[in-house]
Amino acid sequence: MPAPFIDVHTHQEQAAEDSIIIRSLFPDQLDNLKSSGNLLLASGIHPWYIVEPFMKLQLKEIDDAATNKRIVAIGETGIDHMSDVSLNLQKDVFQHHIDLSEKHKLPLIIHCIKAFPEILEFHKTLNPEMPWIMHGFNGNKQLIKSFIQRGIYLSAGTLLTEKNAKIRKSLKSIPPEQLFLETDNKDINIDAIYQNAAEIRKTDISQLKETIYKNFQLVFKT
Ligand SMILES: [Zn+2]
Repeated sequence: MPAPFIDVHTHQEQAAEDSIIIRSLFPDQLDNLKSSGNLLLASGIHPWYIVEPFMKLQLKEIDDAATNKRIVAIGETGIDHMSDVSLNLQKDVFQHHIDLSEKHKLPLIIHCIKAFPEILEFHKTLNPEMPWIMHGFNGNKQLIKSFIQRGIYLSAGTLLTEKNAKIRKSLKSIPPEQLFLETDNKDINIDAIYQNAAEIRKTDISQLKETIYKNFQLVFKT
């Protein structure tokens, strides 16, 4: 059987027939645990939507949800310099997500805007056991090197379809065994992302599917 497409980070509610998706839920969407078929799910507080008075309760909700087999990752969580939320609060919430990831032995899906040094610093300081996945990655070759050296996975999304995006130039430097692809919140099919990535990496889609499926099995222990 051919390997399915893997969409490692999406907010879409349904998977196409030949794909496995990891749908990211915000804490107020955790009701979906009871519905939405047998989709794989992740949960975390996005750095745009941290509201201090709700934070503790939401972290508890994620902690509880993480015992459910359908939750296969913690996130998205992270640091975003474009967010109105204070950097200190974002870091505090990120730290809590790292703790949950380690506690429940689940990989961490990370949202990062202009905060690459901070994320790397956390990784160096804490040396977590669980895999980290940088979603929507758009960095240059040098940055890729820093993340790859720390064993962090890099996931590329719709920017691959945008002519001048950095990631189009740097995608080739991500080693296959640390690569993921995603649709995030965009209305696009994951196969279109694979198509773009395959062209840029000068490989074929079936090869790319095999490679990323292997990464998926390894990281998500399926
Ligand atoms: Zn997202």
